[in-house]
Amino acid sequence: MVAKIIDGKNFAKTLRVKITRKVSEIRNSQGEVPGLAVILIGEDPASEVYVRNKARQTSEVGMESFKHILDAQVSESNLLALIDEVNNNELIHGLLVQLPLPEHIDSERVINAIVPQKDVDGFHISNVGLLSTGQKAMIPCTPLGCKLMLLNHHGSLSGMNAVVVGRSNIVGKPMANLLLQENCTVTIAHSRTRDLPAVCREADILVAAVGRPNFIKGNWIKPGATVIDVGINRIDNPDPKISRPKLVGDVDFAEASQVAGAITPVPGGVGPMTIACLLANTVTSFCRTKGLAEPNWVEE
Ligand code: NDP
Repeated sequence: MVAKIIDGKNFAKTLRVKITRKVSEIRNSQGEVPGLAVILIGEDPASEVYVRNKARQTSEVGMESFKHILDAQVSESNLLALIDEVNNNELIHGLLVQLPLPEHIDSERVINAIVPQKDVDGFHISNVGLLSTGQKAMIPCTPLGCKLMLLNHHGSLSGMNAVVVGRSNIVGKPMANLLLQENCTVTIAHSRTRDLPAVCREADILVAAVGRPNFIKGNWIKPGATVIDVGINRIDNPDPKISRPKLVGDVDFAEASQVAGAITPVPGGVGPMTIACLLANTVTSFCRTKGLAEPNWVEE
């Protein structure tokens, strides 16, 4: 079997079209648009590119973009003061603090200083609690993107066996909670899991969020399963003529695509959905603040 490719790039494009339409509706009915602020600390080139992309895409869908770039030496109290300012700025409906933060800053304190309704990354402890108790939360962007792609592909996920490999707070755990909400039977696997290949072989839906290049092999996959590869790993380019690193996922794509029913590629799978979901969360936050009907990003 050769798997169907779940084209995240195209799916993200469709989602951005829906967001643009919703923002335009909001502009017409409310006379204002959602605003997204990003705070970047230090000069990490990869983060700078990522933040630039976010700002560009925010403007492209018609929203207001606010960018704060702070010196790597900024004190925690100055950062908290800026967050407080953004929390109270009525033009801003979503705030993202680009991680990782410098070592002298307590990440948890910073994340929990964002008002939960503007926490479009969904990392605030209130949003974590709301999600895990099945209440209305801000949902972390990467797992939200995976869920939207899965629902688009399958319609309903009810009753399916889902295995999530990885238990981080930003991907694995929220992903497992979302799958549980969709009535999957969920297993979370991690570095202490016994016989991981056998656990993976039980999965109708296999989500890999491990951070190890080409880790999940073709013979770990149940024939016909849907494989969502969250991993982004940079490896030496096998083509000696190309000096830049090659991006690969956590799943051995060449092997897995011969067994799976559907699979997300890397690049072009989960990655493009993450920023699109950040924009979607900002619109959702605006609607909640104003008491408007919330967009349903799956069905619209
Ligand atoms: P973390 O390093 O926080 O978590 C990795 C998880 O994988 C841990 O739970 C760890 O288990 C588990 N793990 C590590 N080694 C093994 C092993 N040998 N067997 C089984 N489980 C193992 O990573 P993240 O969740 O932050 O990210 C995972 C991947 O997703 C990375 O490649 C990252 O770059 C990518 N990513 C992609 C995004 C996107 O937009 N597409 C966004 C965020 C992340 P344990 O807890 O036991 O240590």
